Amino acid sequence: MSPQLIVVGAGLFGLTVAREAAERHGLHVLVLDRRSHLGGNAWSEADPETGIEVHRYGPHFFHTNNERVWTYLNRFTAFTPFSYRGQSNHRGEIFPLPVNLATINQFYRAAMSPDEARARLREEASMYQGGPATNFEDKAISLIGRPLYEAFFKGYTTKQWQTDLRLLPAETLTRLPIRYTYDNRWFNDKYQAQPADGYAAWMRSMADHPRIEVRLGVDFLSPTAEVNRGVVGRVPVVYTGPVDEYFGDAEGRLSWRTLDFHTEVHPTGDFQGTAIVNYADVEVPWTRIVEYRHVHPERDYPADRTVTVKEFSRFADTPGDEPYYPVNAVEDRARLTRYRARMEAEPLVWFGGRLGTYQYLDMHMAVAAALSLMDNKLSPYLQTQTVGD
Ligand code: FAD
Repeated sequence: MSPQLIVVGAGLFGLTVAREAAERHGLHVLVLDRRSHLGGNAWSEADPETGIEVHRYGPHFFHTNNERVWTYLNRFTAFTPFSYRGQSNHRGEIFPLPVNLATINQFYRAAMSPDEARARLREEASMYQGGPATNFEDKAISLIGRPLYEAFFKGYTTKQWQTDLRLLPAETLTRLPIRYTYDNRWFNDKYQAQPADGYAAWMRSMADHPRIEVRLGVDFLSPTAEVNRGVVGRVPVVYTGPVDEYFGDAEGRLSWRTLDFHTEVHPTGDFQGTAIVNYADVEVPWTRIVEYRHVHPERDYPADRTVTVKEFSRFADTPGDEPYYPVNAVEDRARLTRYRARMEAEPLVWFGGRLGTYQYLDMHMAVAAALSLMDNKLSPYLQTQTVGD
């Protein structure tokens, strides 16, 4: 059966489009991915030594306020409630994150009320003497003062971005709330949960449809691939791979940050007592340690072994590096504008997802963006076509 729609990339964006095209429009959809598994970065598998579910591309915690996305995804997986609560190791002492009343009181060895803590931080912040706070460092100091900034943000963010924090935009910080309560849930969303049977089962369930065919290990941009860009213009394509690669880097390469992971198995049932501990100090080379057993406390994992993953952050500058976070520097934004003009001109190709649009997207955002592409662009286009078997 020849496909009526080709989806490049079996991540959450691609799988949502494929499922919608098959169900709403009855299309035969071919999904290609150059990796050997579904799900893009939202993929997990059992650690071979302990059986503990490990997220291959870094810890993924599902959260959303979007009712449509939540209802939609519940068709494919059950979820168990899970709220990610942060901790930070600063000079050998553990503090709760995001910065909240407990962090502030522990840091200042105090028992301040919310109002007293606000006043204390206002006083610290008032010592900021610079101009408008347009960069990360100035913004942080003008919000919480220098002591908390230097303890919890400076070292960590320097390790994350390997750049002068006065060159990072202020928005990088505004994503992290400061709370004057003892709530240290990382996200505020109404729904915070993990797929009950793991990410792999969730992704397989999305692809499990008689009109969806998945072929793994196929690189759409390779001239020797069984299905490749030679089909462009003849079959509608939704492309969720890197936009610069699609155009042969014609406008220059977009820059990304990547992560290196160091997995260790320990002879104990609990290494750190929580899913994630950040390491705030610049002298410690890793940014955080993830202990995956804590993501599913309801599971029957071994009592005498546990698995942890240390994360190290760096620029993606070696061939084969996975692109994780867009750097979004001034030159990247200029290149992206030029790529957008090329995307507009590409016949019968819709670009989407985090790589296809050069945008960090949480999982719920990838699903919402895919539904919106269907509603606003693909469905109207497909309705104008006569679709036959
Ligand atoms: P991807 O998942 O990247 O999928 C794109 C797919 O396209 C890939 O499988 C790739 O192999 C394939 N592809 C690319 N080029 C080609 C080609 N030429 N031919 C064939 N296939 C190709 N979100 C959350 O909601 N909560 C979290 O806690 C969270 N944590 C994250 C942690 C990290 C370290 C990272 C990097 C992301 C995290 N995310 C999280 C975001 C989440 O992973 C993404 O939103 C989601 O995976 C985006 O889906 P996507 O389909 O757009 O892209």
